[in-house]
Amino acid sequence: MNMGTMVMHRTGEPDLLRFATAGSVDDGKSTLIGRLLHDANALYEDHIEALKKKAGRDNKGLDFSLITDGLKAEREQGITIDVAYRYFSTLKRRFIIADTPGHEQYTRNMATGASTADVAVVLIDARLGVLTQSKRHGFIASLLGVPHVVVAVNKMDMVDYEQEVFERIREEYTEFTARLGLGEVTFIPISALVGDNVVNRSENMPWYPGVPLLTYLENVSIAGDRNLVDFRFPVQRVVRPNQNFRGYSGQIASGVVRPGDEVVALGSGQRSQVTRIVTYNGDLEYAFAPLSVTLCLADEIDISRGDMLAHPNNVPRVERALDAMIIWLADSPLEAGRNYLVKHTSNLVKASCAELMYRVDPNTLHREGAMQLCMNDIGRARFTLFRPLHLDQYERNRVTGSFVLIDPLTNLTVGAGMVSDRLRAAELRTEGAQPPVSSEITWHRGRVELAERAALLRQQPATVWLTGLSASGKSTIAFELERQLMALGHPCFVLDGDNIRHGLSRDLGFTPQDRTENIRRIAEVAHLLNEAGLIVITAFISPYAQDREVARRVIGPERFLETYLSANVSTCEERDPKGLYAKARSGSITEFTGVSAPYEPPTLPALSLDTASQNVDECVRAILHLLADRLQ
Ligand code: ADP
Repeated sequence: MNMGTMVMHRTGEPDLLRFATAGSVDDGKSTLIGRLLHDANALYEDHIEALKKKAGRDNKGLDFSLITDGLKAEREQGITIDVAYRYFSTLKRRFIIADTPGHEQYTRNMATGASTADVAVVLIDARLGVLTQSKRHGFIASLLGVPHVVVAVNKMDMVDYEQEVFERIREEYTEFTARLGLGEVTFIPISALVGDNVVNRSENMPWYPGVPLLTYLENVSIAGDRNLVDFRFPVQRVVRPNQNFRGYSGQIASGVVRPGDEVVALGSGQRSQVTRIVTYNGDLEYAFAPLSVTLCLADEIDISRGDMLAHPNNVPRVERALDAMIIWLADSPLEAGRNYLVKHTSNLVKASCAELMYRVDPNTLHREGAMQLCMNDIGRARFTLFRPLHLDQYERNRVTGSFVLIDPLTNLTVGAGMVSDRLRAAELRTEGAQPPVSSEITWHRGRVELAERAALLRQQPATVWLTGLSASGKSTIAFELERQLMALGHPCFVLDGDNIRHGLSRDLGFTPQDRTENIRRIAEVAHLLNEAGLIVITAFISPYAQDREVARRVIGPERFLETYLSANVSTCEERDPKGLYAKARSGSITEFTGVSAPYEPPTLPALSLDTASQNVDECVRAILHLLADRLQ
């Protein structure tokens, strides 16, 4: 087997697994890869001979790191520097390893190697435990959307194969990765040097119930990770060998295509039908990512390099602005106002950095305001494009959702970017910025004036925004207030936590970002109901001050009546009508406000009620008093 044929094979082989390794210097990455290749009998004979000779000379055992360290020769310009690709296969699978040096300086290599990986193998030295670097690797793997992460706790032989050491690392790292939303994280205790649990099961760690690393890599299921829904075909080349043949070559970025499929060419917008899928091995009846093919169409339509083919009812969005997470790879920092080239599929477009929103501390995952992104920094930025691009969100598409930034003067790759979802750009809003609204969209006023509604309904609309811990009494007070207002002849409606999560926000969890987005949606609904003339009462924990500020802006400050139910954790926990605190304490609910997530009380609420000392009726009366001059 040589590398050339593997590359030819790789695109069409469903049993191909790509994995990337990441570790700090001396964590034993090279040794691990060498051991894997050796024990899986995947080494070339001449390599082993050379090693034996050297081992004889040095009078030591075989040093596997020599094999991989010798491979770093193939250096290319820019971003691919220092990533060595290794190819091997076992009876079950073919493998491509992106071997990336993991020094703190070398985030770029991890980013490059892992960007197409099915699995990231993060090495942790059992003696040193979880380092900042280990967290950075996990963070990058999650940013890059690597579907499976294996944490290989290496050098177990140096800690006497102690289970406790392994478990401590597992616990600490799991706590960290839980906040990243990583898909699947598997921990394997190994010794690359001795060979424990790399290819063969170790007898030194009978307490470990799992499989060795290679068995994991051979069996991990990756078919479901592929996006087979959204067909995207960036055209790399127009092929026209003679008058009778015209085709478009490229690699399918995602989705499936069949002859007969209708496709649209982006940019011209012209449509046609696929007539043939041509490959070196003959025509295909269907093809899917990541196959490289040549497509023939029924009509001669306008298509050139850089265009994209997609199904007409499922197209990427066309954007002039790029909102993305950026991994910065260059010495000279990223700054707002600077110009760059964006390379996206086969397009190269001029862009300027419009705004640097924040930098993320990989250790704590906190966002910090930043004027620059320096080498290895990760942050979020917005770019203005000089020509529109067809973009997908990175989460859905790792090809059409990613791009690299190039310095127009040096022509070097300076950054890697992952397109964020604009619709769920919750982080944006926590920074206090309004989500962008396209200039084509304006608010239409109907022919009924607000004053007419107010006169008809005998009330000025407002939103009573109840905020407080779980069980502080929000729902109880909201529904009682609703009942009393209706009894007084005032149309009103309660928006209650569970009801909203039942439908409108069913897709959201309880991370800070999801909470933010949930509150934004509720605020929009409250605004609409207020526009319809109703009084709205909301019952949401809404723990973050900034989210409530967004709600205030959306609803309008004159209608937004922030009402704080100030009962403290111990009062609420004593009530616990839904048993949620008990679940949070036992760990079966995470991110629970007051227990494992913060609550930020309002500084200047319109009304503050202590539900520990004021009963439901007193609370409702106080709110009615607050509303009094809006009710006729
Ligand atoms: P939340 O909406 O904040 O989750 P709930 O209304 O569901 O809170 O639960 C509050 C619990 O506290 C209910 O069981 C309610 O009967 C009780 N409670 C006791 N005193 C009060 C009060 N003054 N206001 C509201 N609820 C109260």
